[in-house]
This record gives sequence, structure tokens and C-alpha cells, in this order.
Amino acid sequence: MMLAYMDRAAAAAEPEDAGEPAPVAAGCAAATDFGGLVSAIPAAVVRPASADDVASAIRAAARTAGLTVAARGNGHSVAGQAMAEGGLVLDMRALALSRRPQMQLVGCPGGGNNGPCYADVPGGALWEEVLHWGVKNHGLAPASWTDYLRLTVGGTLSNGGVSGQSFRYGPQVSNVAELEVVTGDGDCRVCSPSSHPDLFFAVLGGLGQFGVITRARIPLRRAPRAVRWTRVVYASFADYTADAEWLVTRPPEEAFDYVEGFAFVNSDDPVNGWPSVPIPGGARFDASLLPAGAGPVLYCLEVALYQYPDGAVEDDEDKAAAAAVSRMMAPLKYVRGLEFAAGVGYVDFLSRVNRVEEEARRNGSWDAPHPWLNLFVSSRDIADFDRAIIKGMLADGIDGPMLVYPMLKSKWDPNTSVALPDGEVFYLVALLRFCRGGGPAVDELVAQNGAILHACRANGYDHKAYFPSYRGEAEWARHFGAARWRRFVERKARYDPLAILAPGQKIFPRAP
Ligand code: FAD
Repeated sequence: MMLAYMDRAAAAAEPEDAGEPAPVAAGCAAATDFGGLVSAIPAAVVRPASADDVASAIRAAARTAGLTVAARGNGHSVAGQAMAEGGLVLDMRALALSRRPQMQLVGCPGGGNNGPCYADVPGGALWEEVLHWGVKNHGLAPASWTDYLRLTVGGTLSNGGVSGQSFRYGPQVSNVAELEVVTGDGDCRVCSPSSHPDLFFAVLGGLGQFGVITRARIPLRRAPRAVRWTRVVYASFADYTADAEWLVTRPPEEAFDYVEGFAFVNSDDPVNGWPSVPIPGGARFDASLLPAGAGPVLYCLEVALYQYPDGAVEDDEDKAAAAAVSRMMAPLKYVRGLEFAAGVGYVDFLSRVNRVEEEARRNGSWDAPHPWLNLFVSSRDIADFDRAIIKGMLADGIDGPMLVYPMLKSKWDPNTSVALPDGEVFYLVALLRFCRGGGPAVDELVAQNGAILHACRANGYDHKAYFPSYRGEAEWARHFGAARWRRFVERKARYDPLAILAPGQKIFPRAP
């Protein structure tokens, strides 16, 4: 049965070969990922059409000495996390594309007026597909997103899933009602906070270690019609963080729906500098407005307020939203005049990174290596981090966005597998390097990432790697901390005793 779905030669880039098994080619999609830094050739790629196919593949691996299984979402990892050297790679996109209907509305009595609505979506669905389906067919959408939506539901739920909505609505791992999971012993189980809660929470942020997510039930809300999107500029990091933290701790009725931000270089460099700030189609950056003492690095705070149709003329709604944003921004200490605002459709706003992808594909940097580093850094240490790392090591920019924005630990369930810093307020620091050519060698950038991690440890910053990439038990134990590591190991023994799953994370060796 499972063999019917095993595509030994092909992986996405190559023609299907239903004949005799052949080695998977080195350049195939399953042997690579968005990072482009490592490659691991699997024995075969499996294109499951159902959870049963996933279970068959895992059971077959359990019967074969040394064989491992990696679920591959859209391969947007950067350090081989979705690879399986000599193992089976499950192409989760195949599962999503074969399911008919792909998504299903669940609950929603009285069209949502009398009870909650959910979407049942395959683990390999892209968030972009969930968005379009929900808004177009039902006027509904999930509350929590990633910046870029061509990521799979199972892939982000295995990590966290964060964006500017996380401070208010929680990360994506806090926005799931139920999961269907095939565990490492080949059992297919439905779990939720009330049914098999230990498995449910283990899988969320579980780095693919405990089971393959074949279906997720995602809560839906009324989709906004439009978004008032605003960026403002700071010369002082202290003012930037004070305002950002104030915004993310406002009560819901006074809060934005989205708060993000990034560091950029105080120069006219088209990628790292002033031109990276204006919202597409908006005003240009007038550097003469910067205060005289502004340093080499500046900060851009980005906020968004959702607009729901209230029956008024759309023009009037837009004006009311602009006025509300001005009121909410009035107490902030940004550089007056360096404000960029636009009214955009909700789907356009959530799809904003697609424009970055188009440009990067045009200039070749989408397919070049991406030595990215993502960290969560506690508010306690973010000023020191800024001084030593952002203004110190990265003052010339990184040829891509340097995201720095706060979120709240209380929005994350401590029962999930995600490791977070200790403090209530912590920052995502995302160094999203694009190698356009002509810059430092990739090896140097990888070494710089290592130096940043080393500095965080040496300086005692309260921090955790997001999308961690470690080798060996000692490093993973340090990442999780003693108690969480013990729980992680116990959960592994319970749900994947042979350590078949997600070998690309390099946490547990396959049991003999
Ligand atoms: P993959 O990379 O294919 O897999 C990631 C891990 O999850 C692997 O270990 C894999 O085995 C496991 N896995 C995949 N599917 C399943 C499944 N169904 N069941 C169990 N395990 C599974 N992240 C954010 O949080 N916020 C962002 O704003 C954001 N923006 C991004 C923008 C870009 C351009 C890129 C490339 C990445 C971004 N990410 C962001 C990171 C993204 O969340 C990770 O790459 C994540 O791994 C999801 O990617 P994927 O679906 O391709 O999963």
C-alpha cells in the first residue's frame, strides 16, 4: 500500500518514475531546503494521500533497521531540519493536495453567531491556502499568522509560528483546537487540550519529534475587510523598545492588532538603509528629519489596525481608522515626520512578503543560501543585545531584514514543547540574510551567527534559539533547560521510542 505512494527517484524536481526504485538525485527538492547550507539525500520520497499512508511509511521504517522518516512541509527550514539522510521524506504537500475537499468548516452553528468556527486543514496546507479559502468562502480567517504564508500548517506548528499578531492573539501554537497526529509507532491519534493533552502539547513546537501532523483544527474569526498599516522611525533604541512594549501591553480595546519592527542602517543603502522603510506606494524617507545625534542604526516600528465593515461607507470607515491610529500613536516618541501609512486590503496585508519573494526571485537571492539566525531575547537583555550585536557586529546591515519586536510569554502555553526565555516580555530577533552576491562569503556569515550565539551565552543573555539547530544531546539539553529537557526526552520515549521521526533536527539517534 505504502509503496504505491513511494516515489523513489523523483522528489519534486524530477519526472515521476513508477518503475524500479532508483537512488534519489542529489539536487532533488527533498535533499535541500531554503537555507541552502546543508544537503542530505533520502533513500526515497513518499507522497502520502492519507494519514494511513503516513502511518504505513512510519511502520515500514520501524521494521527496517536504521530507517528514519522526516515530514517535509514546504522545505523552508534553513539547517536541514526537514531532511532524512538515507531515510524516507514524507512530502506533506502531496497529502494536502490530494485531500478533497482540502479544508472543511467545522462548528459554526448559526453561521458563527451561536458558536465557534474552525477550519480542519491538512498538515501540508500552506497558510496562504487557509487564508484564501477562509476569506473567500466564509469571510473567516485564523487570528495568528507568520509574516510569510507559503509555509505549511504542520511546519509552523512544529516550531511556533510568530508574527506581529502574536503579542495579542498568541503564536500559532496557541491557536489550535485539535490535531490528528501519526506518532513514531505508526498510531494515528486525534488529540486536543482535553483528549490526549500530553501528545497535543508535545507536538506543538515539538520540532517534528513526536508525530506527523496530518490535520489541524484552527479556530477562525470574522476576517477584517481592510488594515490601516503604519511605520514610524526611531533614532533611540530605548524609546523604540519602551514604545513597543507599551503597545504590546495595552488592553485589547486600546491595542493594535499587529506590532512588529526592525532595525535598519542609517544610510541610503537600498537594501539595508532608509529605502527599506517606506510602505510600498507611500512617501519617501526624508533623512533630513532625523535628529542630529542619530547613530549608525535606526529602528522602524510597524503597527496595523484591522478594520471590520460597520455598515458605514468604506471611505468613512477608512477615515475613522486613520483617526484612531493617529490617536493611538500620539503618545509615542518616534521621529515626527518619519511616518508612513497606507490603507490596504486584509489579504494584501497578510500577503505582503510575496512581493519580497518576487523581487528576490528576480535578483536570484531567493535561490541563494540563507544563513538565517532567529532568537528570542528577553526584554531584560535586549538593550545590551542591541549595543553589542546590532550596533556592534551588525551595524552595516545584513542584506535583509533585522526584525526586532516584542511578544508576551503569557500568550504561550507552557505545556507545549517550545523553549522560551524566562521573562514575560521577550523579543524575536530575526536576522534574515539574503545573499545577493558581492557580500561576505556564506561561511563568514555562518561564523558570525555562531559568534552571536556565543556572545549571547558569554554575556548571560536570557535567550533561546527559535528554529534551533544544535548537534548532540548536551547542546539540546542546554537549549531546553533541565526540566523541559527531561520532559522532552520522556515524551520522545513515549511517542517515538525508536527515534524514527525528524532526524534532520539531530536530537536523538535512531535506535538500532
Ligand atoms: P519544513 O521546513 O518543511 O519543516 C520544518 C520542521 O517541521 C521539520 O523538522 C519537519 O520535519 C517538521 N514538519 C514539517 N511538517 C510537519 C508535519 N506535518 N508534522 C510534523 N512535523 C512536520 N516563521 C515564523 O514563525 N514566522 C515568520 O514570519 C516566518 N517567516 C518566514 C519567511 C520565510 C521566507 C521563510 C523561508 C521562513 C519563515 N519562517 C517564519 C520560518 C518557518 O516557520 C519555518 O521554516 C518552518 O519550518 C515552516 O516551514 P515549512 O512548512 O516549510 O516546514
